[in-house]
Amino acid sequence: MSKSILISYLLFFSNFSFCQSPKDLILDFQSYKESQIINKYSTNKDVIKLLEKYKKNSTFEIKQLGESVQKRPIFQVKLGHGKTKVLLWSQMHGDEPTATMSIFDIFNLIAQKDSKYKKYIAHILDNLTLYFIPMLNPDGAELIHRRNAQDIDINRDALNLETPEARILRKAGEQIEPDFGFNLHDQNKYYGFEKNANTSTIALLAPRPTDDDFSLPNHEDAKRLIVHLNNILQEYIPNKVGKFKDEYEPNAFGEFFQSMGTTTILVEGGYIRGDEQKQEVRKYHTMLLFEALTAIASMDFKDENPESYYDIPINKGHLHDLIIRNCRLPNGVIGDIAFRKSEIKDTISGKVYIKGHIRKMGNCDNSHGFLEYNAKQAALVEGKLYKKPFRNLKSISKTKIKSLIKQGYTDIIVLEKLSDYQRYNHDISVHPKGTLSSDIGGNFVLKRNEKVLFGIVNACIIETKKL
Ligand SMILES: [Zn+2]
Repeated sequence: MSKSILISYLLFFSNFSFCQSPKDLILDFQSYKESQIINKYSTNKDVIKLLEKYKKNSTFEIKQLGESVQKRPIFQVKLGHGKTKVLLWSQMHGDEPTATMSIFDIFNLIAQKDSKYKKYIAHILDNLTLYFIPMLNPDGAELIHRRNAQDIDINRDALNLETPEARILRKAGEQIEPDFGFNLHDQNKYYGFEKNANTSTIALLAPRPTDDDFSLPNHEDAKRLIVHLNNILQEYIPNKVGKFKDEYEPNAFGEFFQSMGTTTILVEGGYIRGDEQKQEVRKYHTMLLFEALTAIASMDFKDENPESYYDIPINKGHLHDLIIRNCRLPNGVIGDIAFRKSEIKDTISGKVYIKGHIRKMGNCDNSHGFLEYNAKQAALVEGKLYKKPFRNLKSISKTKIKSLIKQGYTDIIVLEKLSDYQRYNHDISVHPKGTLSSDIGGNFVLKRNEKVLFGIVNACIIETKKL
């Protein structure tokens, strides 16, 4: 190597090392994340408050597109002045919040005066015009519900247009005629992969434009973009990126936009074990969105081979919160039992509680549990109801609960009125008097030789050892 080549080589790499790459957003997350969002439960009120700070910033053009069934405002935020138009909408399913968090992280990053990423931001804003619709289903978000207030799935309403939220998105799409579309969702935490127990942190899909035609140019571009994004994600979350199940749904917005010629990708924020508030997933999701916009601004994803899209493993929903393996089930058969948990917002207190349920009983060989226990043929016995009521919750101590479980009781009656949050926030299943019929059952004790090893209440193992 000649001296001059060596010098230019060294100069190139020394310069390079001082340049931020969009990938560095993973490491820099604390420096640009929207600090007012601290958990996954933002509502329309939070969106209104967060948008307030951008109203006087000329980079952000905010307008109200309409309102939800329950009259909550739905906004569009326009940024940039480039030729290529990109439409991104989040949380059309009210219980899928990750992309809304990421959109506000991106806003915060773009608004930063001396951002380390300003070259990339300028590149994006010069080449693209971005149209964000954060939280398309504010009524669903309020209750942590998938559907809107008419109990309709907005993502099955692209053609029928029965919901005001779907009409807002369709109208925005028809006016903007976007070149690229981002259908931003969350998948449930139970998606993983055929070959291992990994959770799927992010899943991607290029929705099909028609039931049988795979060859529209924009669909091919969607695959190329996904291949590009997957390559980047693999550096940070190897073997944790999946392809979401590809079921053609003409009434879904991904398929609708793809069929209209918009290069559309579906992004599903997934799960990382222990990250219940999705703050880790949020970080990868934000980087992914910024990378996607950078790639579209420079069109450098066009070199990717669309066929590599089919190498991304398909997501499989075979994970559970708890699996008790190899136990004698209540029907006498030796087998497994798998439990899952649902998050429910208590309408009285507004607090979120967890409710467990049995997902599968029998053979769970092809499933994985976040927590697993080998019962070595101990007996799984349905928990008993302790019939003598307690005056109130205060009158029952933790030691008393454990002692009841040790005697095979998993359900108790209390005489006071309780919200659902108060009912489900215990190591024993609590039934206010008069509510018994609704949801008794689903709690167990594991017994060997008539001795209780532990209780299973609300899909959690309740230890009794320390008594
Ligand atoms: Zn969804």
